[in-house]
Amino acid sequence: MSPAPQSDDSESAKLDFIREIVARDVQANTHQGRVHTRFPPEPNGYLHIGHAKSICLNFGIAQEFGGKCNLRFDDTNPTKEDVEYVESIQEDIRWLGFEWDELHFASDYFEQLYEWSCELIRKELAYVDSQTLEEIRQQRGTATEPGQESRYRNRSVDENLDLFSRMRSGEFADGEHVLRARIDMASKHLILRDPLMYRIRHAEHHRTGNQWCIYPMYDYAHGQSDAIEEITHSICTLEFDTHRPLYDWFIEKLGIFPSHQYEFARLNLTYTVMSKRKFIDLVDGNYVDGWDDPRMPTLSGMRRRGYTPEAIRNFCSEIGVTKYNGLTDLVVLENALRADLNKRAERRMAVLDPLRVVITNYPEGESEELDAVNNPEDESAGTRKIPFGREIFIERDDFMEDPPKKFFRLGPGREVRLRWAYFLTCQEAIKDEDGNIVELRCTYDPETKGGNAPDGRKVKGTIHWVSAEHSVEAEVRLYDHLLKVENPADMPEGQDWKEALNENSLSVLKGCRLEPSLADNDGAMPVQFERKGYFIQDARDSAAGHLVFNRTVSLKDSWSKKGRR
Ligand code: ATP
Ligand code: MG
Repeated sequence: MSPAPQSDDSESAKLDFIREIVARDVQANTHQGRVHTRFPPEPNGYLHIGHAKSICLNFGIAQEFGGKCNLRFDDTNPTKEDVEYVESIQEDIRWLGFEWDELHFASDYFEQLYEWSCELIRKELAYVDSQTLEEIRQQRGTATEPGQESRYRNRSVDENLDLFSRMRSGEFADGEHVLRARIDMASKHLILRDPLMYRIRHAEHHRTGNQWCIYPMYDYAHGQSDAIEEITHSICTLEFDTHRPLYDWFIEKLGIFPSHQYEFARLNLTYTVMSKRKFIDLVDGNYVDGWDDPRMPTLSGMRRRGYTPEAIRNFCSEIGVTKYNGLTDLVVLENALRADLNKRAERRMAVLDPLRVVITNYPEGESEELDAVNNPEDESAGTRKIPFGREIFIERDDFMEDPPKKFFRLGPGREVRLRWAYFLTCQEAIKDEDGNIVELRCTYDPETKGGNAPDGRKVKGTIHWVSAEHSVEAEVRLYDHLLKVENPADMPEGQDWKEALNENSLSVLKGCRLEPSLADNDGAMPVQFERKGYFIQDARDSAAGHLVFNRTVSLKDSWSKKGRR
């Protein structure tokens, strides 16, 4: 028999490799035990669920270790960035439940970055190259062959300082010169083969306007910004591990605060694309209804779809943090959502494809109110009244004219329970000229109010319904995967990924009928339509008199049943 684990051991066993590093540094009193992280989005699009993983990690570590986390906009590329994105990013982080300690913009460091470049020039560690980008690329060499040195590599310090200051003052056109670090064209790290530090770009920046026409490259701006903010643990995704030697080189040569970079695996989800650039294609090409289309894996889309911040945070902690790229099943995200909504969503009845039922033995012109439990998972949610009368709607597919044995719902002569109401027996199906069923004639048993028969008689099926007279009409939107392919990375090279878009990702149902309490649902409240899934009122298109509900997620993973996973 193995001994039960010590509680201390099981605690530390739960730490992922990044938290282990942070815990070790705190223990060793590195940086006086201080922990300071940052989340550094480029404001060139809206945040997505992948960013949520990074946010939960960076802000989570700061919270757990009593440290700080900054929000820093990595706004060094003026042509792609915009204040709209700056604002949406802040809104999304707050919605997720996090608040930054300091708000910064890399563009605030442009002057400092410029001065440090001059310092590197003076140390003969940077030079102005006047070759084209194409020439520079051709001289880079390969993993097995060294690169070639630029013919401008040995310019004098004075010439470099002069050219660089004239680059800044706008004397040259885009592409005429670049500033490069002077490192080693034979380095085994390709990133160290005299990487670019600055390029000329005559473009208006969303914050600095036309003050600058030279802009620092990511590799030069990022680590220096970390150092300026005295970030202790600079956490980024795995594709940056090849950049780490350069990150360290700049910090070492400038002798600035020794921030250190750590890499973790980015989040990829099945049936989903995860890149701002691709979202821009979708939005600009009108494939979706904006950045917050409920099919988008953007945080604004997920919010509009009905995701809760708690569900997203729980998902992020469940998938953890690893060093190996993988593909996470969308079902894991959806199950985290179901678990959260099951606790918080009040139950309601809604009929998505209504079939009229006339209860012939119910007194004409009368109605009554029945008690319904709001959430069986949460007693404090209480009960509500639902109206019942002689005419109701049920779901069309809850009736079959010639039902097989295992069909426990309604058929001619069969009895079912109406949720929270009575037993109902079907007497007759009325058809139109074309043979379509347009109405059912049924009888109810007044003795079964509340759903139980005093004689102990049982029924196998319980179906949902709404009162025809009292229910309200709504449009309901159902969603399916954005992509038809499980892993977009598997698509053949050169094929346009948009060919994988699922043309049936949205179904719009009109003429749905909802119980009347949903008419004044305040919009932000998630609900479960019994037997149909979790729904939320659409924040954009829903209005009094034109209710629109989005299906957040079905009750069960129906995709796997269809064998499509
Ligand atoms: P995209 O390719 O979607 O534009 P990005 O990495 O360029 O993403 P940034 O704005 O630079 O986006 O990212 C900010 C932070 O979020 C970075 O630290 C980045 O590593 C992290 N991040 C981006 N995408 C993911 C992802 N899919 N999983 C985890 N972290 C991510
Ligand atoms: Mg980017």
